Amino acid sequence: MAPRLDLEGRCIQPLKICIIGAGGFIGSHLCEALLWNTEHSILAVDIFCDKIQHLLSPGEEWSNRIDFFMINIKHDPQTENLIKISDVVINLAAICTPADYNTRPLDTIYSNFIDALPVVRYCTDNNKRLIHFSTCEVYGKTIGCFLPNDSPLRKDNFYVLKEDESPCIFGSIDKQRWSYGCAKQLLERLVYAEGAENDLKFTIVRPFNWIGPRMDFIPGVDGPSHAVPRVLACFSMALMKEEPLKLVDGGKAQRTFCYIKDAIDAVLRIIENPDRANMRIFNVGNPMNEASVKELAEVMTDVYCKISGKSKPNLTTIDISSKEFYGEGYEDSDRRIPDMKLVTRQLEWQPTTSLHDLLEFTLAYQHKTYSQAVRECVSKTFST
Ligand code: NAD
Ligand code: UDP
Repeated sequence: MAPRLDLEGRCIQPLKICIIGAGGFIGSHLCEALLWNTEHSILAVDIFCDKIQHLLSPGEEWSNRIDFFMINIKHDPQTENLIKISDVVINLAAICTPADYNTRPLDTIYSNFIDALPVVRYCTDNNKRLIHFSTCEVYGKTIGCFLPNDSPLRKDNFYVLKEDESPCIFGSIDKQRWSYGCAKQLLERLVYAEGAENDLKFTIVRPFNWIGPRMDFIPGVDGPSHAVPRVLACFSMALMKEEPLKLVDGGKAQRTFCYIKDAIDAVLRIIENPDRANMRIFNVGNPMNEASVKELAEVMTDVYCKISGKSKPNLTTIDISSKEFYGEGYEDSDRRIPDMKLVTRQLEWQPTTSLHDLLEFTLAYQHKTYSQAVRECVSKTFST
């Protein structure tokens, strides 16, 4: 493998990286990229390892560069020992599915704030660099959403979210949807304060709807049948079951979708360029891939029909209220456009994969991985 160079053209020395939450969606792609494209080694921490099982079998050329530790960071003293022997710590561990925010607010707040506190403390105490995964949801609602619908001021610049300028706007406390964004925000403030007062070297990453293979689960196949994953898995499951896609409150919310492999390239740049990334917060997303949830449903339906060879059904979507879909206390983020100035200037990073292409790659994976199992689930339901 050719030696890797940082953005200044200097050779990068191999690092030992402790990844907490390595067994999740982002963790699995990050582990792949680190093992396949770099010489860094990984201490992988998670409660689950199904999504990285393919990286853990012995005898591969990377096998001596990854060790898996089945640890719950809530109550395992091993966490500090692993941090002590690492050069960099990446914390991805979280409850991060919106259906949980208003129905399991305590678990959400504990997972995204309380459970992460020791990790920050161990990094400060042991002088380790921390790359902490936060979320674009810390911005909450946009300033633009408070303008009247016909206001001439409703222009994109009221919706673009800037790391060092935009305020964080959450709903009232009974709208428990914001338990996640609020817990993440307080953790960001704590990490930032550790940097300012105790010299913690940190980078905070705010992902904007990263999408790709291995995201979440298909209920009843590799996850609980009544659980509700994020929109990609919800829509994939409906397409495979040949059911209409449910549009929460008409699907008017807008998101920008970023392909996971583009996003992982940004994370590698953060890991390998500490001088450019330390003491900074980065939006990582793709503003070119903006779509309303309704538009997302339309594109996913067209792409899935092409991949599966099925014809387009007459009824592709149905509307559902957020109260019926998520329950009491749900409120939506209206629109999220990442400002890209900082990430472009500091990391020289730009995402390249279009919405259509990322959906084609991802739905091909969903179809190959799940369609048979979903068919079996459906026929079992009909026969009982
Ligand atoms: P994920 O749920 O797939 O991964 C999280 C992983 O953390 C899981 O494997 C889970 O088992 C593990 N984990 C949770 N609690 C743990 C604990 N106590 N001990 C050990 N492991 C634990 O989620 P993801 O999409 O990969 O997201 C990773 C991070 O990025 C999260 O912090 C999330 O808030 C943030 N994020 C992701 C997105 C996105 O687009 N995917 C968007 C915004 C923020
Ligand atoms: N959504 C939807 N139908 C579904 C699942 C989600 O309309 O079956 C909507 C949800 O209300 C939100 C958007 O899709 O407006 C994105 O939801 P996701 O769960 O992916 O996470 P978020 O971007 O809100 O963090």
